Amino acid sequence: MDFAIPAAITQDLNRLKDFIRTQILPDLSTWTQKRQIPDTMLHLLGAGGWYGIKVKGERLIRGSALREAMIAEELAKVSPGVAIVALAHVDLGLMGLFLFGSQRLHQTYGASAVQGKTVMCLGNTENIAGSDVAGVSMSADKVDGGWMLNGTKAYVTNGLIADLGVITAVSDPQAERNHRLSMYLVNLKTEGVRRKKLNKQVWIPSDLTRLRFDNVFVPDDHLLGTRGRGLQQVLEVFTSSRVPIAALTLGTAVGAFNLAHDHIQKRTVFGKKILDLQAKAFELSDFYAKIEAARLVLQKACWKVDQGEDFRQASSVAKYLSVEIAREVTLWAADIFGAASVIFEHPIHKYPLDVWAASLGEGTQDVQKLIIFRELMKNCR
Ligand SMILES: Cc1cc2nc3c(=O)[nH]c(=O)nc-3n(C[C@H](O)[C@H](O)[C@H](O)COP(=O)(O)OP(=O)(O)OC[C@H]3O[C@@H](n4cnc5c(N)ncnc54)[C@H](O)[C@@H]3O)c2cc1C
Repeated sequence: MDFAIPAAITQDLNRLKDFIRTQILPDLSTWTQKRQIPDTMLHLLGAGGWYGIKVKGERLIRGSALREAMIAEELAKVSPGVAIVALAHVDLGLMGLFLFGSQRLHQTYGASAVQGKTVMCLGNTENIAGSDVAGVSMSADKVDGGWMLNGTKAYVTNGLIADLGVITAVSDPQAERNHRLSMYLVNLKTEGVRRKKLNKQVWIPSDLTRLRFDNVFVPDDHLLGTRGRGLQQVLEVFTSSRVPIAALTLGTAVGAFNLAHDHIQKRTVFGKKILDLQAKAFELSDFYAKIEAARLVLQKACWKVDQGEDFRQASSVAKYLSVEIAREVTLWAADIFGAASVIFEHPIHKYPLDVWAASLGEGTQDVQKLIIFRELMKNCR
């Protein structure tokens, strides 16, 4: 067993820390006020090589899961809202294209998406179906040369800024439940697409957008993967994105922990630094140990991805534990700041809210437990 992080990743992370210091931190409060991230930041993230999918020859390839997780953790320490923009672009949208797009689609959109010039998102959830992925109702009717999409995707991260969406819809309403859906790559600048930005308090400055499709035409060659396999395909994307979202959640915990760690050394109460109250010092130790545990579980999931092993259970365990631990850590860290923590502009304020968001994306905690249980039962037989 080797716990050493490869030198190349460590060097990259040092470069990333410089990038965050010079390119993100100076403008973060402006983006937070405007609740929008500029297009140029997506280009800079691409140019810096901070996305987990790259182009090789004419095809897309996936980089190391460990490297991607460490990048997500680092970004989320300072801004879970910036980290999720990158994650939704790469691990939801681009991952759909990577896993299920034809070579021609890779050639057409891959390079531009990897550079952050074509922004991507994934729309599956509808008002009537979130955890129950198979229950979506958006229709895809076969027409000459393609498909006609009608319906609404209720919650789409990057929906406001994306050029391309990976969208699930019912192509075969008469088929049995597991074969009703197909997955499409949709040009969101097509006529018939309407976007409504939702007013949310989490993961600022990312957007959460409702996408409405009225007779949106999708050409035949933009069907992703196989007709009738949309459910299995979107679940495969979510299984994969659970690893980086676990890392993003861990980074959210670490960001809050670091702020609290700094504050307890400075703040005096009853004539003592908070750090000198042993009850609080022990809380610090407790949360440090839990963060370490969550990171080891996450790194095991990354290792499985990088070895090409089945990581279904490992990714759910990583996401489940990182959310549980981040909930505790961020609420504790906010408490350390007392009343100041409730003020919107205070740096600690957003961390507990961002864990709330993370607990929902890529499956709630109940859904993670369901997957862990199913895998457990498979392995028991
Ligand atoms: C900030 C944010 C960003 C998002 N971004 C995207 C995006 O980019 N694309 C996208 O498609 N979706 C996105 N979503 C939607 C997200 O994936 C769903 O909210 C999530 O899957 C839960 O679905 P739901 O909201 O319909 O809740 P429901 O499925 O209605 O769940 C309600 C409750 O029932 C529980 N529950 C559900 N099923 C079971 C079960 N079988 N056993 C036990 N308990 C169960 C849940 O845990 C939860 O407590 C986003 C959501 C948020 C908050």
